[in-house]
Amino acid sequence: MDLLTTIAATRQYVAGVRHQGKSIGLVPTMGYLHKGHLTLARTAREQNDVVMMSIFVNPTQFGPGEDLDRYPRDLERDQELAAAAGVEAIFTPPVAEMYPRGYSTYVQVEGLTEVLCGASRPGHFRGVATVVSKLFNIVQPDRAYFGLKDYQQAVVIKRMVRDLNFPVDIITVPTVREPDGLALSSRNKYLSPAQRRSALALYRALNLGADLIRRGERRAKTVWEAMTREILSYPETRVDYVAVCDADTLEPLLEIKGRVLLALAVWVGNTRLIDNLTLEVKDHVARPDEE
Ligand code: AMP
Repeated sequence: MDLLTTIAATRQYVAGVRHQGKSIGLVPTMGYLHKGHLTLARTAREQNDVVMMSIFVNPTQFGPGEDLDRYPRDLERDQELAAAAGVEAIFTPPVAEMYPRGYSTYVQVEGLTEVLCGASRPGHFRGVATVVSKLFNIVQPDRAYFGLKDYQQAVVIKRMVRDLNFPVDIITVPTVREPDGLALSSRNKYLSPAQRRSALALYRALNLGADLIRRGERRAKTVWEAMTREILSYPETRVDYVAVCDADTLEPLLEIKGRVLLALAVWVGNTRLIDNLTLEVKDHVARPDEE
């Protein structure tokens, strides 16, 4: 396992891999690895000759008052887990390596970043798009791996790659969950045992919404209300947003049709958790005037 902390060393490592004619898969993370991250790494392992992972708690994607300073870190444990998942090299730069004095260039994906998490966390996706652009320029991977747990992030990165012509394939990987359904997240560490029980509200609300739709409900407002009620029935929960939207454009739906994204962000105590689920609604619901 190679631990790379400078851009120069990383470029040199990548040049060596390229010289051998090998392909590279990149797994960008903020570390404190769990099975979600490791699933991305294993998927990359199957599809590339060499897997590289970045571990960087990116300050530009955190807003003022967010958890940048207390974000969990454990590089030693991460190295072991990553190596076991087939990662050959970890790029883990200090902040000044990525953002030296006078740093002033940012990548802004418009529209898609103004809804859902983008509305609650202004500047978040600007930070994400910027750091991912930098990682793509530094590593120049053939493929890069993103989890659908951060659905909007994956959509934003795909749009950025298309719009800015990055020569990289974006591969998305389904959300990995605990046995009871809670999506794995480094932030789950913040939860007390009671909050951990309340955190199940997210998965339960998503399934409730999906069930309503499967049973024929087509009014987004009704689904939204049922999901919101479900979340608030758990102690210590506060809704940041509940959204019923088009899975491609992320625009809110009035009538449920096509590829639908149910997405939510919920505060459990002081911890903000997100989750989502997509489903396809193929039928055509007759409006009263068509019956
Ligand atoms: P993070 O370290 O939280 O920035 O996440 C790094 C990558 O892992 C992102 O592409 C996430 O979407 C992905 N990821 C995080 N949690 C999960 C999960 N439970 N299942 C699948 N992918 C995940």
